[in-house]
Amino acid sequence: MFDRAIQPSGACAPPAIALKKEPTMSAATRIPRGRQFFANPGPTNIPDSILKAVAHVSVDFNDPAFLKVYDDAVAGVKRILRTQHDVFLYTGSGHAAWEAALVNLFSAGDELLVIETGYFSESWAKMAQDFGLKIRTLAADWRRGADFAALRAMLAADTGHAIKAICAVQNETATGMELPLPEVRAALQATNHPALLLVDTISSLGSMEFRMDDWGVDVAVGGSQKGLMLPTGMSFTGASPKALAAHAASTLPKSYLNWTHMLTRRHKSFIGTVPTSLFYGLQESVRLLEEEGLDQVFARHARLAEAVRRCVRHWSGNNGPQLFCLSPDRYSNSVTAVMMPEGHDGDALRRIALQVFNVSLGGGLGPLGGKVFRIGHLGDLNEPMILGTLATVEAAMRVAGVPHAPGGVNAAVEYLADAARS
Ligand SMILES: *Cc1c(COP(=O)(O)O)cnc(C)c1O
Repeated sequence: MFDRAIQPSGACAPPAIALKKEPTMSAATRIPRGRQFFANPGPTNIPDSILKAVAHVSVDFNDPAFLKVYDDAVAGVKRILRTQHDVFLYTGSGHAAWEAALVNLFSAGDELLVIETGYFSESWAKMAQDFGLKIRTLAADWRRGADFAALRAMLAADTGHAIKAICAVQNETATGMELPLPEVRAALQATNHPALLLVDTISSLGSMEFRMDDWGVDVAVGGSQKGLMLPTGMSFTGASPKALAAHAASTLPKSYLNWTHMLTRRHKSFIGTVPTSLFYGLQESVRLLEEEGLDQVFARHARLAEAVRRCVRHWSGNNGPQLFCLSPDRYSNSVTAVMMPEGHDGDALRRIALQVFNVSLGGGLGPLGGKVFRIGHLGDLNEPMILGTLATVEAAMRVAGVPHAPGGVNAAVEYLADAARS
């Protein structure tokens, strides 16, 4: 029972309910409880079964029981890369595999064509320059993506075949845009250009379709802490026979990352101690991905990504934040970059999301610092985790006074419900 005062005028007035008084602790002094919602595009959430798998006692990396786990895990990585070729693995994050690809394939003065996508394509190019390689860039607008007619023209103009390789980032984690790799292969074919195709698939492997052999990728670079849902610390490269032939002719200095040295070892990788714990985890990661089925994994990523985009599109009303990517056919299904309204700082918003609500978002990289924030939606993620994150971003925008059209989460709810009914 409760009393509701009836206004004589019949006007609608707030009901006279005695509300329980809210405690007045300031948000800044809250001690976080419950799980942190981790919406970074890498590292990503580690499933409990992988956490348990990596918590393994030390073993001799030549122990036959471990070798079985190792061989099984490496075979799994090949299936996920969709390759029959060799895979070399490294103790080191994705940057180590970038470096391995460069030093194993090239000689000082070799020229590479880098397809500009954003922060990560630029970083890989800078690394190549550190090794004395020459860089030609296919320049592109970070919000719209590379133009393949321009790529074909560049390759066609290179009649002397000075370009030894194309470096392409399949999923530009800084901008939330995919580079359609079959188009890159098609440009090489159309111009009959012999350049190697090197692909960074670090933030797309295990989240978005990737087919190393079908797409004619010569070197595929992957890492442990994104779609594979493992701790950071291991990376790898698939290498085609054409890549191995280039390796044989390459003269850049290399030792710890040298494929020739690695091929002499039982593990065909790793000079020195093998990070055994990560292989127990990798075996479980492959098991999880294949139990769900890679096509289902990709469909789940596509669904959650679309829910995020519908929410952001709704927020963009009232001069609110917008999708950074302006090419709908290239939206990334593993990360969405959201551009802040003019005069509002993405990092201030992220601080509120983290400190007040315990939700960790990705920040803007390089020139996008403060201008965008990023919602990672890859790896071990489901609908409630995405809805919780979106609802919290909306709450944080209210706290921060960021203009937006309220109710974006409803657009995501509707989309996810429709997707579940169909
Ligand atoms: C994360 C990432 C890298 C860098 O990998 P690290 O593991 O941080 O060294 C490179 N490229 C892309 C596309 C990435 O998302």
